[in-house]
Amino acid sequence: MKILTINSGSSSLKVALFEMRDEKRVSFLEVEKIGEDISRVLLEKETVFEGKIEDHYEALKKIEKILNEKNILKNFDQLSAVGHRVVHGGEKFKKSVIIDKKVIKDIKELSSLAPLHNPSNLKGIEAILKKAPSLTQVAVFDTAFHQTMPKKAYLYAIDYKTAQKEKIRRYGFHGTSHMHVAKEGAKILKKELKDLNLITIHLGNGASITAIKNGKSVDTSMGFTPLEGLVMGTRSGDIDPGVLLYLMEKGFEAKEIEELLNKRSGLKGLCGKNDMREIEKIKANSQTASLAFEIFCYRVKKYIGAYMAALGEVEALIFTAGIGENSLEVRERVCENLEIFGIKLDKEKNKRNETIISKKSSKVKVLVIKTDEEIEIARETKRLLLA
Ligand code: AMP
Repeated sequence: MKILTINSGSSSLKVALFEMRDEKRVSFLEVEKIGEDISRVLLEKETVFEGKIEDHYEALKKIEKILNEKNILKNFDQLSAVGHRVVHGGEKFKKSVIIDKKVIKDIKELSSLAPLHNPSNLKGIEAILKKAPSLTQVAVFDTAFHQTMPKKAYLYAIDYKTAQKEKIRRYGFHGTSHMHVAKEGAKILKKELKDLNLITIHLGNGASITAIKNGKSVDTSMGFTPLEGLVMGTRSGDIDPGVLLYLMEKGFEAKEIEELLNKRSGLKGLCGKNDMREIEKIKANSQTASLAFEIFCYRVKKYIGAYMAALGEVEALIFTAGIGENSLEVRERVCENLEIFGIKLDKEKNKRNETIISKKSSKVKVLVIKTDEEIEIARETKRLLLA
């Protein structure tokens, strides 16, 4: 069974081809700058085409041609189904679904909650509809895993009626990644996921942390939008909402504030750089980089404390994504002085980037697990296809 997964952006496509017999990722393609003068297609990170690609439909045609030329796939008729990453499923989608006209309409309606993402995700869905109308398509939502949160975790303490009317609540994002590493963590711990309490820590350019009780998300740091919570590459994370009111009174427009919080904040806002590798390199000689590193780690640490309190008992912390999987320094600083919670990092194992980086005597295990949202999307697609 061959399944294609698609992560569609406004001018980009990330496409992975899986052979589900052994869950093998056969190919990974990226199309960049769709609609611009020169678009680019990469196969396994190598450029294989440069030239104009008008839209997402043309991009898919190009991908099919490349897969054929490389003898990887004859054509899309050989696919069993296509799985799409869809960012916002609101309260409507608590699980992945097979896409039909009604689902497309619902995803469109949810665009008001995710104006940057849902319309872009729909471009991928509509391009497949045009290219291969009979193929089964599945939507896997970033928000779905967090739909198990209780009211006390997802409601904000604002006027209830206004919140209801405007659908203002914590939705949470990165759900597919948190779910994937939680499942993989259960395998490593040789336990059933439903018997596990975990704290999953996704630290990439975007960052979020999730409290998982008996295998289900019960709280997460991203909220109504992916702005809340941890310090990120260019996003602020938690901030007093009074700051926004203050800026508005000073004459800042909504667009300017949005740009400030999304693009000129986080690590970049603090020290001018959003790549943790660079920050680690220069922080010994740069006060601002050193401070950005400390603020980043301190925020993660505070959330671990909060979620330890929320969960009571925790089997493991799981670090994932670009920074979580690779930065020894961040993991060491985050786990420093957490012995009170039964968390004891083994610095040598951490340096060797082992999967289990806690000491044998650590009550709470600390794991490093590579995230893989695509395989999770492919698995969900297969599950629904066979259901
Ligand atoms: P992601 O969004 O998951 O792709 O993560 C991207 C981020 O991971 C980059 O911005 C880097 O800051 C970070 N990263 C990747 N490799 C390393 C590394 N070896 N050490 C520290 N940070 C890293």
